[in-house]
Amino acid sequence: MTIQWFPGHMTRARRQIQEKLKLIDLVIELIDARLPLSSRNPMIDEILQGKPRMIIMNKADLADSAVTQQWIAYFKEQGQTALPVDAQTGTGIKDIPVQAKVLLKEKIDRQIAKGIKPRPIRALIVGIPNVGKSTLINRMAGRSVAATGDRPGVTKAQQWIRIGEIELLDTPGILWPKFEDQNVGYRLAVTGAIKEEILNVEDIAFFAVKYLVSYYWDTMAERFELTARPEDSENPDEIVGVMEAIGRKRGCIVSGGRVDLEKASGVLLRELRAGKLGRFSLEAPY
Ligand code: GDP
Repeated sequence: MTIQWFPGHMTRARRQIQEKLKLIDLVIELIDARLPLSSRNPMIDEILQGKPRMIIMNKADLADSAVTQQWIAYFKEQGQTALPVDAQTGTGIKDIPVQAKVLLKEKIDRQIAKGIKPRPIRALIVGIPNVGKSTLINRMAGRSVAATGDRPGVTKAQQWIRIGEIELLDTPGILWPKFEDQNVGYRLAVTGAIKEEILNVEDIAFFAVKYLVSYYWDTMAERFELTARPEDSENPDEIVGVMEAIGRKRGCIVSGGRVDLEKASGVLLRELRAGKLGRFSLEAPY
């Protein structure tokens, strides 16, 4: 699913989230563990207006765990709590209510001091499309309550789902990704968060291969039985050479023996997204 974000959409999305902020104590901001900054909304701080926030680095099962640890330290330095989660299997989600209580401890303590029985923490999940919001809500609820692939602007009655000491809104807040930086678009596209109609599949694969040559050469070389590592990853011819070698390995050949680069690109991206090349991260904090 692709959402075309126009100024009107963004204003509406922003307004919808800000309406919901009035109802909640805590925002659960979902980002993709493989590209924590690129999968963030550029105006998130402004939109959240100082609400307590927990960052969930979702799809941590697909990310390079050493890099994920660096990101957790990075967010901690900024005074933010980030938890690695795999919403698909539920790994890490038990920590969410635990951390929610830690983040709201002062408020809860104040209520207790006043003799008020603390009510459940009300939380809203927000994030860009495809980051796993519905999967996380359903996993936390233990049943299917949120439709995966939810669209902005589609209104339905929202409900609270009680999960231990948390009450979660079943409708997530959908935010738009960053558009200004082309590399952000490519990182999102490599993970499949942006459809290939928007960016050219060969360009996306080129971006991916260039990154893999620099940071994950061994895994890529092993998977596609590549022998010649490019000497200069900045040299486009050498990157295309790797793409051709991958295409040959996968039988993406057109008449005359030439490699069908478009097909090879599709194959590579599918294998990469399916985790066949192992875990990888597309940006690191340091
Ligand atoms: P939403 O648009 O933010 O609601 O995203 P969805 O919940 O629809 O998830 C988008 C895709 O990511 C789906 O194909 C999910 O199965 C997949 N997904 C979600 N969370 C995870 C995760 O933690 N790990 C993996 N591997 N895939 C996930």
